Amino acid sequence: METSATPTHCPYCALQCGMNLAPAPDGTVEVTERADFPVNRGALCGKGRTAPAVLSSRVRLTSPLVREGGALVPATWDEALDRIAERLSAVRSAHGPDALGVFGGGGLTNEKAYTLGKFARIVLGTSQIDYNGRFCMSSAAAAGTKAFGLDRGLPFPLEDIPRTGCVILVGSNLAETMPPALRYLTELKDNGGTLIVVDPRRTRTAEQADLHLAPRPGTDLALALGLLHLIVAEGRTDEEYIRERTTGWEDARAAAMAHWPEYVERITGVPVPELREAVRLFCEPRAAMVLTARGPEQHSKGTDTVGAWINLCLATGRAGRPLSGYGCLTGQGNGQGGREHGQKADQLPGYRKLTDPAARRHVAEVWGVDPDSLPGPGRSAYELLDALGTDIRALLLMGSNPVVSAPRAAHVEERVRSLDFLAVCDVVLSETAALADVVLPVTQWAEETGTTTNLEGRVLLRRQAITPPRGVRSDLEVMHELAARLGVEKGFPTDPEEVFEELRRASAGGPADYSGITYRRLARENGVFWPCPAPPEDAGDRADAGPGGGGTGPGGGGANSGSGGAVPGGGGAHSDGVDDAEDAALDVRRPDDPAQDDDAPGVHPGSPRLFLDRFATDDGRARFAPVSHRAVAEEPDAEYPVLLTTGRVVAQYQSGAQTRRVDELNAAAPGPFVELHPRLARRLGAAEGDPVAVVSRRGRAVAPARITTSIRPDTVFMPFHWPGEGRANTLTNPALDPTSRMPEFKACAVRVEAVKAV
Ligand code: SF4
Repeated sequence: METSATPTHCPYCALQCGMNLAPAPDGTVEVTERADFPVNRGALCGKGRTAPAVLSSRVRLTSPLVREGGALVPATWDEALDRIAERLSAVRSAHGPDALGVFGGGGLTNEKAYTLGKFARIVLGTSQIDYNGRFCMSSAAAAGTKAFGLDRGLPFPLEDIPRTGCVILVGSNLAETMPPALRYLTELKDNGGTLIVVDPRRTRTAEQADLHLAPRPGTDLALALGLLHLIVAEGRTDEEYIRERTTGWEDARAAAMAHWPEYVERITGVPVPELREAVRLFCEPRAAMVLTARGPEQHSKGTDTVGAWINLCLATGRAGRPLSGYGCLTGQGNGQGGREHGQKADQLPGYRKLTDPAARRHVAEVWGVDPDSLPGPGRSAYELLDALGTDIRALLLMGSNPVVSAPRAAHVEERVRSLDFLAVCDVVLSETAALADVVLPVTQWAEETGTTTNLEGRVLLRRQAITPPRGVRSDLEVMHELAARLGVEKGFPTDPEEVFEELRRASAGGPADYSGITYRRLARENGVFWPCPAPPEDAGDRADAGPGGGGTGPGGGGANSGSGGAVPGGGGAHSDGVDDAEDAALDVRRPDDPAQDDDAPGVHPGSPRLFLDRFATDDGRARFAPVSHRAVAEEPDAEYPVLLTTGRVVAQYQSGAQTRRVDELNAAAPGPFVELHPRLARRLGAAEGDPVAVVSRRGRAVAPARITTSIRPDTVFMPFHWPGEGRANTLTNPALDPTSRMPEFKACAVRVEAVKAV
């Protein structure tokens, strides 16, 4: 059995744990330990362990479905594809190309995300494409780009975490969202480091902390400002670093000094002595990190909030220093790669801006089209969903289930129902697919090859391990067939490696440069960190470069100019104020160290650590964010006196479209619940397990009470994995961050009511 196992990766979260898959004698697929992949070293959570169950699920779709007389009925592939092409063409003729919408997902492979962006822009000619990753990490991406000139979730590998001195983990419940990653925090503590967790709930992750700060939801920005105030007041800033490696300090400092600790205590509820203790723990070690996740990010001020946490790293000289800095823990399986290759409303492949004329020329050349024919930026995810049935009349949806996962979900469901035409590619009949006019059954992770990019920026090869069932096709085949039916015969290959070769050329020279990465390298090296430009003259690893590699394709030569300049951390003299002796003491190898070089000369080794020499801004300096506290978009009042925050549980993933189909996971987490403090429960007269209603300005959700002292008395929590009566996103507020267009999932005003038995 061992010899026939295929090394691959989990389909779910951004950790992208390695696993081996092998066909079992009973026809199922067996997961076995894959200890050679360094991120998880064989460990898996229950979701990963049971992921093969979805491959052979009884509710797996294996035939296209088309709507006839109000019901979805089986159809042939030709019938289904013809119908999609006809309806999209008809809508485009009647209302113009921007009446066509495309909605992607952060779980799509790089190849699919790349092809979907290309399909939208050159086959449909629409600007209206975005994806569910907008709901996930867009605030951190915006703040990281503002501060560092580049967004890569973690600019250092996970393996650095246990070797730093202190981690402030903000709004992340790793113990439930990606359990194998918890070991990095355990090892940190074993090594004498300290862990500070910032979370309104005393989660299983917060239980591990040396210090747990529990602010009111939506006040992390004030909390970070209060900490920076104390850092300045206590003389703990790194003035030399600020002078040499940053700009904008005076404005950021002035903003922080306006946030007195006592004022911050009033806003956040975190006592001043705890603020002082956090500052001491963070500032005393030579190295320290701040890691954020959805807690501070999913807000109408998420970009500023992350900016405030980055300020903390800059003021103390942490960012771009060994074993230090700021990182975002991306959530979805390809949350990182999914935002780099063009399915975002404002982006072209390689993390290029759609509004940049040079980027348009480069990508248009790779695609063989006129740059002027490429549409401009479209609506962000929620705005796109909100326009369904009005400006947008037809939608192609791939890898997402917004009827469950979008904010103000009842309204989104109504918008979806009002479409003239909806086509969905999925593996099961999700709540959104059930509303479609055509549903196409597609292959899943283990049935196809492709690449993903994990939360560290490590590009990985997910290998096909089994043959897909009869009747399903890959998303790439779907786009190939639709493109041909819509008059574009070439440019949409079905072979993932062929797509990746084109993606390499399209990304060459961009911020997320994949041009030096090949499938062969990914297989051999167990992943490669971007940026990884192709070698200057196709040297050394030519056999690996493949078609379009090196200098052969458009942008191939230009890619390499990024090596010493645009690629932060690559080459050049060290200028970060940390000398080689300090590096040696901290045992961090730079990405340009010869020891890390591939055996072939000229081959870029990849970039595990960014910003050690310079940031990716024009002048190489990081930018402070001059931010001030502001309230959540919807503060509690007499009618809605409590704050709702939402999140995940360990046994379910995202909208639950896959994990709710796995018996073992359903047994562990069968349905939604409302977590509330005993004091609030007493006021309601609710006992454990009693149904309670949570009501916001957008609707009402009902779920059993789960009474716990681990949550603040002014806050309730609901997980968001379920549809129906207990759908948490019925309640959430679509107030958008002005920069990232991220909705405020993490805080809205609600009232909680006991539900009387009838
Ligand atoms: Fe690993 Fe995430 Fe998969 Fe769990 S869900 S096995 S943490 S990749």
